[in-house]
Amino acid sequence: MGWFADLPPEREPSRQTGFSGNRLDRLSERRLDADFVVALRQRADARFALFCGDRPLIAIDAHGGLDALHGLELALALGADPAEMALLGLETDGEAAGAPRFAALLDRPVEAIEAEAIAVGAPVKAIDLRSLVVQGVLPADVMGLLAQARSITHWHASHRFCSKCGTASQLAQAGYRRDCPACGAQHFPRTDPVAIMLTVYGDRCLLGRQPHFPEGMYSCLAGFIEPGETAEAAVRRETMEESGIRVGRVAYHASQPWPFPASLMLGFLAEAVSTEIRRDETELEDVRWFPRAEVAAMLAKAHPHGLFVPPGTAVAQVLIRHFVQSGG
Ligand SMILES: [Zn+2]
Repeated sequence: MGWFADLPPEREPSRQTGFSGNRLDRLSERRLDADFVVALRQRADARFALFCGDRPLIAIDAHGGLDALHGLELALALGADPAEMALLGLETDGEAAGAPRFAALLDRPVEAIEAEAIAVGAPVKAIDLRSLVVQGVLPADVMGLLAQARSITHWHASHRFCSKCGTASQLAQAGYRRDCPACGAQHFPRTDPVAIMLTVYGDRCLLGRQPHFPEGMYSCLAGFIEPGETAEAAVRRETMEESGIRVGRVAYHASQPWPFPASLMLGFLAEAVSTEIRRDETELEDVRWFPRAEVAAMLAKAHPHGLFVPPGTAVAQVLIRHFVQSGG
């Protein structure tokens, strides 16, 4: 099978990334059955991921345990609209196997939501998804579920009106479509592909830093794939624009759902065919070639000048680790 794929599913590099652990059966073929979806929502074991803007509400118990899933009663008490809830799917594993999971957006100020949750005896905190994934305080499958919930609730919140005629649209197909009652247009959720690439020349790789990065952090170059462009062409274009480096061969390595708000990071290894850097001064504060040994020190947080790479859950680090580990 070497010609087809090198690794079995459980060892795919994508599995190393944060937000990749979603195990739900999305039931995509059942979404048109509205009665079935309502019955799922009313089941005693149904749980809801509740979002306040881009942050999930997290219950924290007396022992510091975190729970990102809530009952229907709390969802309704905090103002969730049943007509705007999206079905995420059914759990497929563990004690909760078969239990339905939904997502809902609470379109109100966080202070009001947190105060009301205390009033009904179920305190919650709105916590940023990035800090949850970096801290690793929730199981990987829950982080995957939250990524799905965040992207879908964001899409509904930002597509309330038909883009053809401006009429208020309605959630359909259990949350995977919005229909316009005036002109009949159907609108579907979008996922925005981003190419992220580690460009390699012999024993060196190209890393850059954006002005907003934490001090000392260097990462892979990246950019949105544009309409009418292949992923490989986007890798070559972005690398050229940001660094002036020409790329030859491109190989896909791993992907990562990136719910900020609805991207899919597609990670590539790219082979440089030139070495002279011409930095894009508006995008990057610095971009340079790093020898493999120096990148190994950055990965190990043992760099003499304190330079480092993004956290282990980031597809950027998955690409960088692959480069370091593949060196002789
Ligand atoms: Zn319309």
